[in-house]
Amino acid sequence: MKCSYCTAEIEKGTGMMFVRKNGTVRYYCSQRCYKFNIVMVRKPNRKEIEERASAR
Ligand SMILES: [Zn+2]
Repeated sequence: MKCSYCTAEIEKGTGMMFVRKNGTVRYYCSQRCYKFNIVMVRKPNRKEIEERASAR
């Protein structure tokens, strides 16, 4: 299988598997790829940021 982020080949027993609630399975060769991919997919919640900023 290949890393869903950098497409590097992952050997069995290494890397990490991430299953989303909708059933999509993603494989990552390292925690670094996992983090980068999750950060890129995840859209920042602007409202939350604005609310936090105004609360100061
Ligand atoms: Zn990778």
